[in-house]
Amino acid sequence: MSDAASHLQRLIALKGPLSLSEFMTEALWHPRAGYYAGSEVLGAAGDYVTSPEISQMFGELLGLWCVAMWEAMGRPRPLLLLELGPGRGTLMADALRAARSRPDFLAAAELHLVEASQRLARLQRARLEGVPASWHAHLGEVPEGASIVLANEFLDALPIVQLERSAAGWRERLVDYHPGAGFRFILAPGPAAQEALLSPAERAAPVGSIAELSPAAISLASTLARRLVEQGGGALFIDYGRRAGERGPTLQALRRHARADALATPGHADLTAHVDFAAFARAAREAGAACHGPIAQGAFLAALGIRERAERLAAAAPQQAEAVRASLRRLIAPEAMGSLFQAFALAHPALPVPPGFERAP
Ligand code: SAH
Repeated sequence: MSDAASHLQRLIALKGPLSLSEFMTEALWHPRAGYYAGSEVLGAAGDYVTSPEISQMFGELLGLWCVAMWEAMGRPRPLLLLELGPGRGTLMADALRAARSRPDFLAAAELHLVEASQRLARLQRARLEGVPASWHAHLGEVPEGASIVLANEFLDALPIVQLERSAAGWRERLVDYHPGAGFRFILAPGPAAQEALLSPAERAAPVGSIAELSPAAISLASTLARRLVEQGGGALFIDYGRRAGERGPTLQALRRHARADALATPGHADLTAHVDFAAFARAAREAGAACHGPIAQGAFLAALGIRERAERLAAAAPQQAEAVRASLRRLIAPEAMGSLFQAFALAHPALPVPPGFERAP
C-alpha cells in the first residue's frame, strides 16, 4: 500500500469518513506522499501532456493576449502579470518571448507565479532563469495592483465535493475505508449544507443523481473577481469544462496517460474533475466581474490567429512543418483538445470584450 493510502486509512480510522475534497487534498498535496511531491507529473514522460507542452504557439498566443489586454486597460505601470499553477513554466516562457515585440509591455510587467508545489516551483525557476519574478503559495500573497492572470489546467486540479440525491434529499458522498474493499464511497447520514450551492436545475435532478461542486473554485472566482473589479484587470482560464447542462460525476484519475480508479491509488494518480464554468461565472458575476465564454479552445485559438502562426512557423522551418501542423491539429481539432477544452475570461466590467471572445455567448 502506498504511503498516501496508509496515511488516508489512518485519518479515516481517527476521524471517520472523509469529504472527497479532504481525500483529494491529502492524495495530491501530502508533503511527502502526495501526488505533487512525486517525481514526474507533466510532459510526455509524466501522467499527462498539457497544451503549452504540445506547442510553443499556445503560450505565444496567450502572451499576445496579455499585451492586448494591457493596451485595453490603458497600459498601467506596473502591471502584475500573474500565472496560477504554472506547471513547468513553459507557458510563461513562451508568452514572454512573444511579448518581446512589445518592450514597453515587458518593462511594465511584474511577474508573479502562484504555485503550491515546491518541486514544480523549482522547475519554473530554472525555466524562467534571469527573469525577475516572485513565487507565492496562494493568491492571497500576491501584492495589490492592476493585473492580468493566466491559468491553464489549474481549476481542474482544485478539490471537489460530490453530492448524491437520495430518496430523503441531497447527501454528501464521503470516502470510507474497509479492509478488503479498500476506499469506497458512502453517503453521509444527514442533509448536505452544500446543496445551497447547486443551481435550481441541478437541485431538481432525480433520485440517484450525482452533482459535483468545487468550493475552492467558487471561492477563487469571488476573490479574483473582487480583486479585478477593485484594482483593474482581467483573467483567462483554459480548462476542460462541463458542456452546458451536462450533469453527473466527472471525477477522474489519470496515471501514465491512462484512466484509473479515482480512489484506488491515492498519491500515484492525478485527480481532476471537469470545471463547472457556469458555477464559476455565477460567483464571479456576483462579485461584480464581467464574464466572457466559455468557448471551445479550438475557436478561441483560431480567433487569436493560431492557423496563421502555424503557417509562419512551418514556412520558417520546413523540416518541422509536419510537426507544427500535427500540434496545431491536437490543439484545435474537436476530436482532440479543441472542443473539450474551453476558454473563459473574467474582467473589470468597464473593459472591452477580451481578444478571442468576440463571438462568445
Ligand atoms: N499550467 C500548467 C500546469 C497544469 S497542472 C500547464 O498547462 O502545463 C496544475 C498546476 O497547478 C501545477 O503547477 C500544480 O502544482 C498547480 N496547482 C494545483 N493546485 C494548486 C493550488 N491549490 N494552489 C497553487 N497551485 C496549484
